[in-house]
Amino acid sequence: MACTAPPLQLAEALFQNAVEQSAIAIAITDTTARIVYVNRAFTAMTGYSADDVIGLNQSVLSYKTTPKAVYQELWANISAGRDWSGRLLNRRKDGTPYIAELTVTPVTSAAGERDVTHFLGMHRDVTKEYRQSCQLAYHKQLIESVVSVAPMAVALLDSEGKVVLDNPAYQSVVNDLKIKEPAHSVLTILRENLGEAFDLAAARRRPLLNNELRFERPGAEPRWYSCSVAWFEEHPTAIDAFHQNAKSVYQLLLMHDISISKRQQEALGLALMRERLSENEYNQSVREALSGAVFQLQGPINLIAAATRLQRRRAGAAAVNDPLVRALVDAQEAGERAIATLQAAIPEELQTPVGPVNLNEIIRDVLMLETDTFLSAGVTVDWCPALILPSLQGDPSALRIVFRQLIRNAVEAMNTSGWSERNLHLSTSTRGGRIEAAISDTGPGIPEATRFKVFEPFFSTKRACKGARGMGLTVAQDVVSRHRGVLEIDPDYTDGCRLRLSFPHNHPPPSDPGALE
Ligand code: FAD
Repeated sequence: MACTAPPLQLAEALFQNAVEQSAIAIAITDTTARIVYVNRAFTAMTGYSADDVIGLNQSVLSYKTTPKAVYQELWANISAGRDWSGRLLNRRKDGTPYIAELTVTPVTSAAGERDVTHFLGMHRDVTKEYRQSCQLAYHKQLIESVVSVAPMAVALLDSEGKVVLDNPAYQSVVNDLKIKEPAHSVLTILRENLGEAFDLAAARRRPLLNNELRFERPGAEPRWYSCSVAWFEEHPTAIDAFHQNAKSVYQLLLMHDISISKRQQEALGLALMRERLSENEYNQSVREALSGAVFQLQGPINLIAAATRLQRRRAGAAAVNDPLVRALVDAQEAGERAIATLQAAIPEELQTPVGPVNLNEIIRDVLMLETDTFLSAGVTVDWCPALILPSLQGDPSALRIVFRQLIRNAVEAMNTSGWSERNLHLSTSTRGGRIEAAISDTGPGIPEATRFKVFEPFFSTKRACKGARGMGLTVAQDVVSRHRGVLEIDPDYTDGCRLRLSFPHNHPPPSDPGALE
């Protein structure tokens, strides 16, 4: 059943008090805008008392810079009996200007009547709001112009990971790397490289600054970017979320191209790297030669020890004075002393600091170092790096030696007279949380029977050759294992030999401050 409330009979005085005490500046004028009433808030806002303005036109408030067209529109509406709302520049009694948000309502003598007898003007001072909105617009414009001319690529991603804002430098990265959304690749790799540290920084809204990432480009020099990520929250502007505490998290990604300085560093580092590599290789070959001598000596010494035991048994009680036993013991002791001397002479392995290593960089370094080897052996090299690789925790010098050894093995296998197919193919990729590398050659391959033996110490298919000690693959496998990796020969590859390497990603502990700064 419909229920209609009875009309309220409010006292006139109540209306009067309500208007008088209203917080909004109220003026009532006749139809020519001559003021007949102003309330307290009007006086407080304009500085004009009722006595000052009653009988004057509302234009007393005009700052005289408001365009005529505004007034014409105001009058056109109110004269036709319609409300008008807008902003005008007003002047207070003391001459100071302010921005008034004004609503003028035509008043008729009774409800339903058409003849307008008065106008009701209500206005409030919106100068502060206006200034804030101007400042906001100015800052927005300033940020947009700074971002658009900034030499670094900028991408803003919303909480769904969609790029909602970028700049021309970011578009250049898109064109240059030929990937649709480089921001996604960068954030994925940073998350993989930094592990929990990335999530921690995101949760604490702590920026991740200057993480250097390398992007490979087929047939061109790689690109280096120093990447920084910052997170910030935005409160939703939807009005239904006014009383809710929900917020959206945005990711701001900055990519600064540091390729030129990196290339210069690389060029400088190459000579140093060559020197270190030969030092490492020299150390390694001395270690191998001495280990080989120890290994070779151990066999005869073991035989002498066995002969000593046999002769002791044969001589029985007379063994103490048996000259043969004594001679054998002397020979065994001399041999053991020689082994101990050789072992003491084996130099310590050269240690280099362990840190995040990019396999693409290691392989590219080695390819540059081995350019002469490829040229003299007539080997063509096909290098297919993954566009971007997560880093692994490791010893760059040791890994360079591994790849140099494997590449040299491959070139050597193809560099036999009459062998026409001389192609070396190298690639890197990521799969199932691991970084993979493959080195394939078009040489004769390794027969199935020796596929495991080649990793044994001192095993070589080139035993007759001078200098072949058969330790290369043993050392390579040892280094790879120390990096929690795997090195194996691909049994399915039939066009030569393919070696596969795989390593786990690098995840520094979240407490590591270096990961975050
Ligand atoms: P005016 O010569 O007074 O008017 C400029 C134009 O307004 C004219 O070209 C004409 O087209 C139109 N116009 C003026 N009077 C009439 C009329 N009686 N009938 C039809 N058209 C007309 N102005 C402010 O600057 N600040 C205020 O806070 C403000 N509050 C107002 C509150 C009310 C209730 C009303 C009715 C008007 C208010 N006005 C206000 C408008 C004010 O009355 C003036 O029109 C305006 O200030 C311009 O004054 P002016 O002397 O520069 O020009």
